[in-house]
Amino acid sequence: MFRVKKLPEDVVKKIAAGEVVDRPASVLKELIENSLDAGATKIDVFVEKGGKKLIQVKDNGEGIHPDDITDVINRYTTSKISSVDDLYSLDFYGFRGEALYSISSVSKLTIVSRVKDFPLGKELVVEGGRIKYVGDTGAPVGTNVKVIDLFYNIPVRQKFLKTDKTELVYIVDTFVKYALIHTDKHFNLYIDGKEKFNLSPESIEERIKRIYPRLNNLYRFSAENEVGKAEGFVSLDESLSKKGIIYINERPVKNWVLSKVLKSIFGKNFFVLFLELPPYFVDFNVHPSKQEVKLKKDAPVIELVKKASESIKTEPVKKVYTVKQEVKNYSKDVEFKVLGQIENTFLVVYLDGDVYFIDQHVAHERINYNLLRKKYLSQSIEKKKLKNALKVELSQEDKLKIEENENKLRQFFGFRVEENSLDIYEIPSFINSKDAESVFFEILESFDIKKPIEDSLAEIACKSSIKAGDLLTDKEAQSLLKTWILTDNPNLCPHGRPIYYKISLDTIKKAVGRK
Ligand code: ADP
Ligand code: MG
Repeated sequence: MFRVKKLPEDVVKKIAAGEVVDRPASVLKELIENSLDAGATKIDVFVEKGGKKLIQVKDNGEGIHPDDITDVINRYTTSKISSVDDLYSLDFYGFRGEALYSISSVSKLTIVSRVKDFPLGKELVVEGGRIKYVGDTGAPVGTNVKVIDLFYNIPVRQKFLKTDKTELVYIVDTFVKYALIHTDKHFNLYIDGKEKFNLSPESIEERIKRIYPRLNNLYRFSAENEVGKAEGFVSLDESLSKKGIIYINERPVKNWVLSKVLKSIFGKNFFVLFLELPPYFVDFNVHPSKQEVKLKKDAPVIELVKKASESIKTEPVKKVYTVKQEVKNYSKDVEFKVLGQIENTFLVVYLDGDVYFIDQHVAHERINYNLLRKKYLSQSIEKKKLKNALKVELSQEDKLKIEENENKLRQFFGFRVEENSLDIYEIPSFINSKDAESVFFEILESFDIKKPIEDSLAEIACKSSIKAGDLLTDKEAQSLLKTWILTDNPNLCPHGRPIYYKISLDTIKKAVGRK
């Protein structure tokens, strides 16, 4: 018989830690939030080996009182709230008093801190939740937290971490989310000893551009309604990788409903959205650290966001088509009668009792997509060398993504980059060198979490296809049509648009009263 027993303290600690800390980036989030809560105006972040070896955050905030230094690693100890009512006053990021407790139990933690009223600071060294050393030390006013060897005492968790480079992508992402909203503060990031970001107080537009140097065409938008204020920026630059960051009351958040709405408004364009809502309207407590928030009511916030976005030019919402017309199955010897080309865009074709108006671009896109997908799956894309390597402007995140995915870029997509400069010197044969850059960024974007590879392949297929407006010779038209009709889905393009419109000869006969 199993008997009920209390879990040992160190097991409890490790379980609790799992709720707050799941990877180096979540440690960084907690440390940056603590520095901001302490009123810091300068925050320096150092990471080593994707944060697995070291995550360090040094600030010039108010510091920790020397008598409190050992308390900060206890559970539910916080200087920020004292009653339930305070839970909804959102002046601070932290209020659970759980972060340092959790972090300290799954790492080797050092905190050095001094407040301005004391000449000396305190140093605290903790290992796996146990205090190893406390003592006086000289230190500048502020706090310096080092988290070393994360999960050193939980090998299972350590194993679940991704490669250093991937963890680094999450780290940079986290850093950027806070640096973007606190533009009045200095934010520096050093990765394995090298400076990656060095940001001084500046305007929000400047900061966005410094963080995403490739960004152009930045538009501001804003609106107000009875529930709150919305303000944001969107880039109408097509080649920029998709990214959308939502803030509510200065917290980077995730909200499924809002993300869906924003996607339908901005499509794949970069945006940042700052929402100001009354505290009671937002529940930040859905997940301890996952950033998912619940809104009291979705409708007025959606209305607010839509109103704000109307002040700028936006992409039309993507329409979903259903297949109303279908082509029959044909064999290789299908014969088309090409009647002509309208506006160098539609091929007019007679086949088997029907007249087809075929959108040449999307028909070609279907062909290219299928081909591309096959080559992708079999890793057999042909490459060509460029005479002059292509220099592209890369953000820090792009560089990490390239380093992390070099093999994939080469084997699956046919792109090769020079090791140090990251210039592109080999591209897939089927694309024009003038399209190489945008296709390259499209692929980089597909390395973002959650974007299905099919979407990217469709984009690439689109770039390498005949355009509306291209004049086709008879021979070209014939060969296009034959390949198109034998594809597995000649009805819809990979983006979901119908490829043709057809009218049967019977309908035409009826219309003119011919029996
Ligand atoms: P919380 O942020 O929820 O209060 P934490 O575990 O993150 O809980 O931190 C516990 C306490 O340690 C904080 O309430 C604060 O008093 C103190 N503290 C942590 N980091 C800093 C810092 N960088 N500067 C000043 N005080 C800090
Ligand atoms: Mg905290």
